[in-house]
Amino acid sequence: MAETKKGLIIAIDGPAGAGKSTVSRLLAQRLGYRYIDTGALYRAIGLLAWEQGVSPDDGERLAALCDAADITLSDTRVLLGDRDITEDIRRPEMSQMASQVSAQPQVRRALLGLQRRLGGTGAAILEGRDIGTIVFPDADLKIFLDASIEERGRRRYAELQQRGEAKVSLAQTLREMAERDRRDSERAHAPLRPAADAIRIDTTALTQADVVDSMAELVHAHASIERKKGKPSS
Ligand code: C5P
Repeated sequence: MAETKKGLIIAIDGPAGAGKSTVSRLLAQRLGYRYIDTGALYRAIGLLAWEQGVSPDDGERLAALCDAADITLSDTRVLLGDRDITEDIRRPEMSQMASQVSAQPQVRRALLGLQRRLGGTGAAILEGRDIGTIVFPDADLKIFLDASIEERGRRRYAELQQRGEAKVSLAQTLREMAERDRRDSERAHAPLRPAADAIRIDTTALTQADVVDSMAELVHAHASIERKKGKPSS
């Protein structure tokens, strides 16, 4: 970890629709930490590939896109150079593109350093699929959020409806989510799986407030254990 690290590095992983983004953002606000949505990086590369006609299987060309891309993540917006791509990357086609480009080892390698730079100074919550296993295997706290496929599909569908993606049906949303989960879990490089030392939370029957409270308790428990060991927690 970086010598100048202040505050914890918290890794939040899990499948699509487990509620990661909303609760990670809320927990970051509560702790005064930065929220880093690593999926947005893969989505940005997916969008670039889509717009420039680069195949999501062409690792070499995708790596070149990653190297040239100037992606900025703030707590609420995603920029590509000066262009605000926050809404564009949330389209359902971009979910599938992100999942395809993220299976390419060249893409994962190209985005690894950026994620470590963004989170390495601490006081950060990083949300993704491989944060606790690959990006920050020494993260201070690792949480794996999960929920039943039906509940995750329902949540994602509600989110799409809210954004006006009315042409997508619930059945199609569920199908695409299952396909993305399968691809993310079965890929050879950095597959979605809980780190051995991750704490699992099943959010199926929980409200967002419940999940944030549970995670905040874990943060405080971690801090008190570190205090007992004589280490500063932040
Ligand atoms: O989290 P989100 O749904 O925005 O992520 C989009 C896709 O990006 C995921 O389906 C996954 O394929 C990929 N991803 C990844 N590793 C991460 C974050 C996202 O492979 N750390």
